[in-house]
Amino acid sequence: MPDGRIVINGRVWQGVTRLEIKNEVVMLPLDMVEKLGAHTNWEFYPRRPAFEPNDDEIMVPVSLLCRYLDLDWAYLPDINTLILTREEPALRGKRIVLDAGHGGVDTGATRGNLVESELNWDIVKRLADVLQLSGALIEYTRQSGEQATLSQRLAKVNDLQPDLFVSVHHNSFLDGQLNGTETYWYGNWGARHLAQYIQTHVLEELGTINRGVREAAFCLLRYIAATPVLIKVGFITGQEDSAVVASPWMRERAALGIFRGVREYIEENPPQM
Ligand SMILES: [Zn+2]
Repeated sequence: MPDGRIVINGRVWQGVTRLEIKNEVVMLPLDMVEKLGAHTNWEFYPRRPAFEPNDDEIMVPVSLLCRYLDLDWAYLPDINTLILTREEPALRGKRIVLDAGHGGVDTGATRGNLVESELNWDIVKRLADVLQLSGALIEYTRQSGEQATLSQRLAKVNDLQPDLFVSVHHNSFLDGQLNGTETYWYGNWGARHLAQYIQTHVLEELGTINRGVREAAFCLLRYIAATPVLIKVGFITGQEDSAVVASPWMRERAALGIFRGVREYIEENPPQM
């Protein structure tokens, strides 16, 4: 199996590691315990054990490591990636509705094998996984492959009355010249801040062109009572963007960028008492 990657508290750990699956148990090298412990520098890190130089040959179950470091985890086999996170007090119990644009017979934009509705859902699902691990409560306006009209989406969101609403789309154009990421808000300063945080973190992950944070009266932004934003991750028709959005690893990174934007917004905007 090729080298695995680790995501810790919403950031990609700069390195690769062996990840093995034996009898459905995910294992990583023992020396990662120390590397991750040193990296996180958490107060509750109990005591630093001494390791021998050959410890990278000893594999330990991820579940054990996570109990030791007090982390939640998920393993993503499609990108051989281990997600490690602790519950975030700011996110605990926060209600967030995620909206994957289009769906069913409404594919959105397409180019070759790239189908917008599927890319939207893929990022939404990845985002949901990280948010849920951190303690947030996630609802969707549609499930994988499902179709939903705008009015059905609106009715659902306004019924759920979430704290935040994030809609995920991709852009398209007639030729490959246009590339880049855009995040939209409308009429609400909270949403504008949320859009700015998301835009910043997604650009940091994807390295795409910054097409800016924009105000637009999209139906979903206009009529949703929660703090709503809409991101267009990249151009599926773009010469540069198409390779980015076609990559499951980069879609995971897009989700991580949105996750950190949401987290930063919630941390900086505590609920009014
Ligand atoms: Zn769309």
